[in-house]
Amino acid sequence: MRIQVSKRQRFEIFKRDEFACVYCGSHPPDALLEVDHVHPVADGGDNDPDNLVTACFACNRGKSDVLLSSVPQSLADKAEETAEREAQLRAYYEILQARKDRKDEELWSIADIYMERFGDDSILRARLASIRTFLDRLDYFEVVEAMELATRKMYSRAPAFRYFCGVCWRKIKGDGEQ
Ligand SMILES: [Zn+2]
Repeated sequence: MRIQVSKRQRFEIFKRDEFACVYCGSHPPDALLEVDHVHPVADGGDNDPDNLVTACFACNRGKSDVLLSSVPQSLADKAEETAEREAQLRAYYEILQARKDRKDEELWSIADIYMERFGDDSILRARLASIRTFLDRLDYFEVVEAMELATRKMYSRAPAFRYFCGVCWRKIKGDGEQ
């Protein structure tokens, strides 16, 4: 019976699940991640990506009948585990960085709408912080829409930004009522 999941496939599954255990949400460096067969191999489950999920060691072994932690670990295994932990942590940080880059890009594209409208090449730090808050709580397109509306309606900086904030807060409160 072939159950081995290659390192490459393992990291593809981790990446798809954003390096978090699907059962408890833990991630590196706190958790050592493994690939879990949703439909167990013993019952005919295979290595199809649909059958594989990211699980931390604790969640994955918790459902297994073999308690591996009771098996003494050889030095080679220990080195292997350390290498695996480091590889997982590196890949996880790459994902965090990519997520941050995407957020920054979104942030500046909205600030650009505002700056272009008033012919500015800078924006107040506090305003940037407000846009970031809205991006955390609304979809990117909702925030773009609010800024486009505000800069169309208002003819000077402060009222336009106030209007933009008002629209965003209304959207946030509206979402909360659903
Ligand atoms: Zn877990």
